[in-house]
Formats: sequence, C-alpha cells, structure tokens
Amino acid sequence: MAAVNSRKNSDGQDTGDARLDFVRSIVAEDCKTGKWDGRVATRFPPEPNGYLHIGHAKSICLNFGIAAEFGGTCNLRFDDTNPQKEEQEYVDSIIEDIRWLGWDWEGRLYFASDYFEQMYQYAVQLVKAGKAYVCDLGADEMREYRGTLTEPGRDSPYRNRGIEENLDLLERMRAGEFPDGSRTLRAKIDMANPNLNLRDPIMYRIVHASHHRTGDKWCIYPTYDWAHGLEDSVEKITHSICTLEFENHRPLYDWFLDALGVYHPQQIEFARLNLSYTVMSKRKLLQLVQEGLVSGWDDPRMPTICGMRRRGYSPEAIRSFCKVISVNKFNSTIDIALLEHCLREDLNKTSARVMAVLRPLKVIIENYPEDKTEELDAVNNPEDPSAGTRKVPFSRELYIEREDFIEEPPKKFYRLAPGREVRLRYAYFVTCTDVIKDADGNIVELHCTYDPATQGGDAPDGRKVKATLHWVSAAHALKAEVRLYDNLFTKENPNEAEDGQDFKANLNPNSLEVLTDCFVEPSLKEAGPLNRFQFERLGYFCVDPDSSEDKLIFNRTAALRDTWAKIRKAQKLQK
Ligand code: ATP
Ligand code: MG
Repeated sequence: MAAVNSRKNSDGQDTGDARLDFVRSIVAEDCKTGKWDGRVATRFPPEPNGYLHIGHAKSICLNFGIAAEFGGTCNLRFDDTNPQKEEQEYVDSIIEDIRWLGWDWEGRLYFASDYFEQMYQYAVQLVKAGKAYVCDLGADEMREYRGTLTEPGRDSPYRNRGIEENLDLLERMRAGEFPDGSRTLRAKIDMANPNLNLRDPIMYRIVHASHHRTGDKWCIYPTYDWAHGLEDSVEKITHSICTLEFENHRPLYDWFLDALGVYHPQQIEFARLNLSYTVMSKRKLLQLVQEGLVSGWDDPRMPTICGMRRRGYSPEAIRSFCKVISVNKFNSTIDIALLEHCLREDLNKTSARVMAVLRPLKVIIENYPEDKTEELDAVNNPEDPSAGTRKVPFSRELYIEREDFIEEPPKKFYRLAPGREVRLRYAYFVTCTDVIKDADGNIVELHCTYDPATQGGDAPDGRKVKATLHWVSAAHALKAEVRLYDNLFTKENPNEAEDGQDFKANLNPNSLEVLTDCFVEPSLKEAGPLNRFQFERLGYFCVDPDSSEDKLIFNRTAALRDTWAKIRKAQKLQK
C-alpha cells in the first residue's frame, strides 16, 4: 500500500496533498480508495523513431516521479510497432538519456514487439467474437467510407464477412500472402459514431518490412490504438498517462479492453510541453539533422536531451524545470526563458568560477617585472565556500576582454579607458597609460601601470574604482575555441511560416557563433568532457565532448543575464 500521506518530492521534502497536480490528485485518491489495491504502476512508452527531447522529459518526470513518490513502479517500454521508422540507435539513445536524467526502471525494460504474438491472439479472439473483420478497402476508399465530423460514415462492403472467412484471411495476412496495403483488420464498432476514432478503426496493417527486433517474423503490424492498451494491460499498468491529443482515443482504448474482457488501466491525458523559439516534433527535428541544418541530434542548439546535455544542462536543471511547469489539461507554450532560469539557478550553485577572455586585447603592465609570475588566490564559488580557492598566475602581459576598453568612453561606461584606473579581479588596480595601434588605426595593445599596494583588489588608502575586469596571463593562458549559441529559431512559434515556406524559414542564421582565439586560465587544463564552469562576467560554459588537449572547445550553456527574472519583476511591478 502506497503511503499517500508521506508524499516526498524528489528533493525529499514533503509537498503535502494541497499542492498535487491533477494527475497526482487522481493517483492519491485511488490510493486512498484502494482502487488498484493501493498499487501505482506507470510507464514511459517512447517510440524509438527519434531522440528524446525536453517534451519527453516532462512525461518522463511525471511517470517516473509519480512512481517514486507513491511507492510504485514505472516501466520503460518501447512502443516499437512501426518497423519503417524505428532503429536500434534510437533505443540506445533513449536508454542513455533517461538514465542520465536520473531515473531507473529497475530492470523493467519492455518492448511492444515482445507482445506481438499475444496481440495477435487477442485479435483472433475479437474476430471469433464477431468484433473484428478483414477489410479489402484501400486507403483512399477507406477515407471515403469514413465520413466526416458532420457526416456519418458508411459500412465497408466487407464488414459482414463470416467469422471463418475472417479467421482464414487474417491468418493468411500474417503468413504474408497479400501485398502491403491490400487488406487490414478492423474493429467492428460503429461507422456512424460521432467520434471518428470509433468508426471501425484499423487494428493491423500489412507491411512487409524488417523490424529492428523481430526481423522478418511479422508482416502485419498493430496500430497504436490497438497495441497501446494491450501493452498497458499486459504490464498491469494502473495509470496510463499520455498527452492531450489522445483524449479522443480514450473511448477506443476502453472499447478494446472491454471487448476483450482483460485487465483495464485508466488512461489520463495531460497537456504536452511546447517551448518558445524551438520545435518539438520528432519529424521536424529529424529533418534538421538529415538536411545538415544542425550538426546532429546532439547539436547544442537542439531541444533534445542529448543536445541539452552537450550544451551543458544538468539533469537537475531539467528536472527542476519539469517540476516548476507542473502538468495540467490546457495546451500552452512555455517561455524558453523559464527553462534557462531553472538552468542558471542550478549552475549558479554548482559551477566553479574561472577566468576566460573571449575576444582578447593584450595589456602590458609596464612597471611589472618581466620575469616575475605571482600565484594569486581566486575564489572557486562564492555560493559554495566548501569549493575553496585556487591559484591563478599573474604576470606582466595579460589579456582582457576587448569590449572592456573604449578609447573615448561614453558617459556610464565605467570600465577601462585612457588614464582610468580599474581593478583586475583577485589582482591589482591598473591604470591605462597608453593605447597602441596598428597602421590602420586598430587598437592592438594597451599599456598600463599597476599599484603594488592594491594586491588582492583593495587600496589601503581607501580609493575606489568603478569596475572590476576579468583577465588571463598571456604566458600561462590556454588557447580555446568557444561556441556561442542563441535560439535555433527567430520566431516564438517557428511553426508559423509565411505562405509557401515551412518552419525552416524561421531558422536563426545567427544561432551559432564560433570564436577561435579565446584564452582560458591554465586550471582548465584538467577539465573533463561536459565539466561546467562559470566564466566570470561572461556566463556558463561547458567542455565540449570533442575537446582535446590539442584543441580545447567550450560551449556556452547560458549567458549570465536572466531574462526570466526580469520578466517576473516587471510583472510584479505591474500588479
Ligand atoms: P510521435 O509523433 O512520433 O508519436 P511523440 O512525441 O508522441 O511523437 P513518443 O515517442 O510517442 O513521441 O512519446 C513518448 C511519450 O512522450 C508519449 O507518452 C508522449 O505523450 C510523451 N510526449 C511526447 N512529446 C511530448 C511533449 N512535448 N510534452 C509532453 N509529453 C510528450
Ligand atoms: Mg507518440
């Protein structure tokens, strides 16, 4: 019996019943009334026809989360009923991604294809009961017979075939006697039903295609509607949670299970996640990959789990986002700024601070000895004192960020300018004394002086500076490539395209900027793949998996500025 009153969220805090979303309320109520003998059994049922994306993460966190909170189980079940689109590569990636997100199916890994024989036997049962028939209509004819939302459909001329003939034809369909598309097995329900899904829906199609697990054993494949309820039933699922577009399919889900008289879970629908400035359709994501518009499924601009992982997202950030958005019954679009807000909250707590210069400008400290190097103490994470400090080398030649210097600064520009004094983080006050230019008038170097009395970043005489700059020591810094990312699409809803164009017309031509001449502090030599850092003043970055000792590569995970916090503040002010 699940302990309903001690509900814990994934942080181990008791959330109390008052804050339950509508799905968890149903589950809690069922536990209270003993509807399923107190059992809670959910499943996550991906079709292995693409990589998982952030929308799937919502469903994963819901299904695995409910199982964890109510002392139940959650199965991982591949809904592999369509051999033409499915591949082992997708199975492997899905397994990796769910594990990475931190969920465990405890060995309950199932495949719909393992139930094909049982499904077939169930189909025979329905034929014998006069509740299914073999239909010879082609796809176009079937559409004609189907009717519309306002007009009833017409009975197929094959609807009243005798049971023996149906059994014989079904067996021969399975044996491979008929070509693709020539026949189907259909449920005999009601061609006049206002719900089109109940107008004698297809249960089996003939498809002579090799399946990634069953090979050529089958040439008839079950439809989603026929298969899904059976999979749930066989696995004794209690709450079959799916997205809203299946609401109209629920009567069919129920009809099949009732007609067979088998164990019957409850289907519950919730609104799928939509996110601004991105697309979530696997078909569209596949198109981006196949047409080379992104570097692959794990391109850091993709909303896929593996893309987000490569971008530097932590599993915690994704899970926290899924908790914040919760679940409901209304389709809406979540601002991508909220996702990034959850990301920053996590990264701020967990990432070590380091110094890196993306667009370098050389600085020579004229009064600093040429052969001297100092190892200065730098704080690893002000949010986490236990992270300690590290040493950063300081010497006569440094790089600072090009945009931190302006020769003729406008008002309100407080950073470096000729004659002005600023602080170099963890180091000294420096004053710009000279600006060196090339023949074309481009600034190539700054000359400065430093005040040795300001070591550590404070002046003993109490004088103040208005800016603190990050820097790296030229002799010690490591060269790096840094990839800056922006939204993949320029439109909030990329699916809205001008006439004659599709979503790809809304791709953001500036979604990737590669900087090849960056410098990072030497401590980053030790950094491993996907290690995350805050580059001081610049944002959050992680080590790309392709990074090597010969060529360091960093991905920008997120800039520092939190637009979501700004939006929230503006909303509060309005109220
Ligand atoms: P397809 O069009 O290929 O069926 P799909 O996105 O529904 O694509 P599935 O592999 O069938 O992909 O999805 C597995 C589970 O994830 C399903 O239960 C589905 O409802 C859920 N899911 C998919 N997309 C989203 C989304 N954007 N938000 C929430 N849940 C989603
Ligand atoms: Mg689906």
